[in-house]
Amino acid sequence: MILPIVSYGKSILRQKAKDIDKDYPYLKELIDNMWKTLYPADGTGLAAPQVNHSIKLFIVDSKVIYDNLEEEEREEFFEGDCGIKETFINARIIDYSEDKWIEKEGCLSLPTLSEDVMRPWTIVIEYFDRDFQKHTKTFSGTTARVIQHEYDHTEGKLYVDYVNPIKRKLLKGKLIKISKGQVKTRYKME
Ligand SMILES: [Zn+2]
Repeated sequence: MILPIVSYGKSILRQKAKDIDKDYPYLKELIDNMWKTLYPADGTGLAAPQVNHSIKLFIVDSKVIYDNLEEEEREEFFEGDCGIKETFINARIIDYSEDKWIEKEGCLSLPTLSEDVMRPWTIVIEYFDRDFQKHTKTFSGTTARVIQHEYDHTEGKLYVDYVNPIKRKLLKGKLIKISKGQVKTRYKME
């Protein structure tokens, strides 16, 4: 089932999501539905709060980005992986590199917007996968960026929080439009 995506302005996007255990009701179904929701929306990641579940769960597909890049861009924006397709449960980022970089980000909850965001190049993350197997992994580049963006959703943060105050002022009108549902999207929003 394709789920409606929560738009900017709703309080669930500002809540710190809760850890879950493997008995969380309909967990596998929810994860499957999140993947089914992600693709038609042309997204590269989706977090549970964006589909109205305030839990520590998100999915990432950076493979779709990798596959669409030229060889030189792959070398520039990816390191250590060719993109990943993974489910992250109860994730915790336990280390960040001092090395940072800027790239444009967008978000399905903030349609029509995209802004430069500075993020660490490399992260170390602990998480459980969809089968509740525990992992500790290091990711860099675009994959690390998408993970950090989705992880932020489970912390009640949005990428526009990193935009400088002057730029943010300029975005205000657009943000109000989004929160009022006055922006057209190809996917269903609520
Ligand atoms: Zn987002």
